[in-house]
Amino acid sequence: MKIFNPANEELIAEVAEDSVDEVGAKYKKARKAQAEWAKVRVEDRIAVVQKFHDYLESNKTELASVLTSEVGKPLKQSVGELAGARSRIRFFIKESADLLAEEVVMSSNSMTEKIQYEPLGVIANISAWNYPYLVGVNVFIPALIAGNAVLYKPSEYSTLTGLEIARAFSDAGLPEGLFQVVVGKAGAGQALIELPLDGYFFTGSHATGQRIYEAVAPKMVPCQMELGGKDPLYVTDENADMAKVAAAAAEGAFYNNGQSCCAVERIYVHENVYDAFMESFLEEVKSFKVGSPTDEDTFIGPLTRGQQAIVIEGQIQDAVSKGAKLELGGKAISGPGHYFEPTVLSNVNEEMIIMKDESFGPVIGVQKVANDDHAIQLMQDTEYGLTASVYSDSYERAESIMDKMNVGTVYWNCCDRVSANVPWSGRKHSGFGSTLSHIGIRAFTRPKAWHLREG
Ligand code: NAD
Repeated sequence: MKIFNPANEELIAEVAEDSVDEVGAKYKKARKAQAEWAKVRVEDRIAVVQKFHDYLESNKTELASVLTSEVGKPLKQSVGELAGARSRIRFFIKESADLLAEEVVMSSNSMTEKIQYEPLGVIANISAWNYPYLVGVNVFIPALIAGNAVLYKPSEYSTLTGLEIARAFSDAGLPEGLFQVVVGKAGAGQALIELPLDGYFFTGSHATGQRIYEAVAPKMVPCQMELGGKDPLYVTDENADMAKVAAAAAEGAFYNNGQSCCAVERIYVHENVYDAFMESFLEEVKSFKVGSPTDEDTFIGPLTRGQQAIVIEGQIQDAVSKGAKLELGGKAISGPGHYFEPTVLSNVNEEMIIMKDESFGPVIGVQKVANDDHAIQLMQDTEYGLTASVYSDSYERAESIMDKMNVGTVYWNCCDRVSANVPWSGRKHSGFGSTLSHIGIRAFTRPKAWHLREG
């Protein structure tokens, strides 16, 4: 498998894809290793994860540079991703022992009832390229702490990072076989699905997620799906500092080149503040430096996948043909490198693809709305259900809007944000099941109920 740098389209590595037999051999090794790992005390498993965390800290510069070289993420954002991943690992280290301990829930006379949290066994973690460390640690860290073995399938666009993660675990002293990388494209993922695994944890697009869920369903094992989004952000007409709101919305839409599952993908603005918002918003987007991801001041690097430019240009053409106004950008920048102009469209409406399908790039549509009811109706008019954000100086007003959102996460005066303390989950085409929080720790266990009567 050839790996190219999206910033200059140069070949940076060639790695061998795993054959079906090789994936099968990795599974056998994982099965054996897991049986032993399950007997290790949680505290000792956590000690290994602590060493993994420390390795990421000590090697952050090199690891960020590998990540940037294969996905094109600005170096500063790669360093930020590694810092975010370490902070999540610290959350798991702090919270897991208590959450995985046996719980005596009832004890009276001669009867005791308790809950034991057993590992699932060997699980598949099929992952995406846009935040390989962040979405990766959400799954493989709590899975390993809970006593599972993980067959980790990185995206074909972040394979080198996947291999670095395996190296970090090996350096941390994780017993062999417990974390193995399955190298390859869709075929390698399919090989994992053929195996009799005990759980499937997928991060990626809705289309692939649906295919995997269908294939896994007959196995009757746990399956979680963290999929795409078309996340709305609404600006009410109660915002004293419109420049601040516009700056936050622009960052939410364009951070990581818009290639975030919870990127702001649709903006709705109350008509009373529309002009003020637009003025600041366009200023902000114009200030974003597009360039080489290794330049210190670059905010927007290349798209990770060159072919996404065709999808984005198609969405822009569809919108313009239906009456949208191109305020900024609009096209790919000629190579080398998969660069795309930061693009803003106004006068958009819900008939346009750009307000319906995930764009996953540096492009955003801004729509004027008459009132909160109009905003709510449009925000909810989507197949997705990942996040929704409301900017308003009035919490009561924002709360009544957030309350009506059928999504896994709502934001007041913030956006494009994930925290380890609360569950990360989608609804509808954005998936199901949760990672992070106490729910995302126990997700990697099977509860066993013990009913114990003495005498
Ligand atoms: P993708 O669906 O193309 O690929 C995801 C993974 O699935 C890759 O490892 C890929 O090789 C593998 N795969 C592809 N076809 C397969 C098959 N038939 N069987 C088994 N495995 C297969 O997604 P992507 O382009 O890597 O990631 C971008 C998508 O992920 C976006 O939609 C984004 O919103 C979503 N995402 C969601 C979250 C979340 O937390 N909800 C986080 C990150 C990314």
